[in-house]
Amino acid sequence: MSESSIPENLAEIKNRIRLACEKSGRNPTDVTLIAVSKTKPNEAIIDACTAGQFHFGENRMQELQDKMESIELPGIQWHMIGTMQSNKIKYIAKGVNWIHSVSKAKYLNEIEKRAASVNRTINVLIQVNISGEDQKSGCEIDDLPGILEHARDQSHIKICGLMGMATFMDNPEDVRSEFSLLRSTLENHQYLNGGNIELKELSMGMSGDFEVAIEEGSTMVRVGSAIFGSRNNG
Ligand SMILES: *Cc1c(COP(=O)(O)O)cnc(C)c1O
Repeated sequence: MSESSIPENLAEIKNRIRLACEKSGRNPTDVTLIAVSKTKPNEAIIDACTAGQFHFGENRMQELQDKMESIELPGIQWHMIGTMQSNKIKYIAKGVNWIHSVSKAKYLNEIEKRAASVNRTINVLIQVNISGEDQKSGCEIDDLPGILEHARDQSHIKICGLMGMATFMDNPEDVRSEFSLLRSTLENHQYLNGGNIELKELSMGMSGDFEVAIEEGSTMVRVGSAIFGSRNNG
């Protein structure tokens, strides 16, 4: 896959999203495609945007900041999807639209403070550990009610849903149960909805497994290499 074929790759991914929706009786407009542009140059983002792609995801705060500051395209939406660093939230608060990777209340406090200082509201997803392996990849399900209650008074944060990273497997069928766990976790916590908490988005599925994720209820798929080509790192 080469970078010159970004518009073709996007068209193909959108078609696969449509088919996965058809298969599971869902409406394709309920699934947002986030193009994960990490490690890729600004030109790749501009190419994709010109082809009608408006949601972009980055996993490093510094890289996200650099790209937000150097790319100005009307309608573009930036998603932070990688590991949080408290001391860098201040640099992304004025541009980022969505943060998917909040796993601790302390990050909420910092997002609230920095979003308030630039008079914005930031959409937040809580990252939940669904793989059962890496303790760093999200909060435990049991911690979720406490984190959500913590967010309730924060007027510059809107809690929109949950994010999960499935175990890396060759066969995406092997992670279906992890996606369905995230979906049931969302449903089981919707009784806490109200005010700035509206659990409805499920950010799950990547290049290798987004169709299965959609069948299990994903509303946001984070697709990188299948759009922009493989990465050397990151
Ligand atoms: C890199 C990344 C993706 C996209 O991965 P691909 O396999 O290239 O589609 C999705 N989510 C997160 C959190 C990532 O870091």
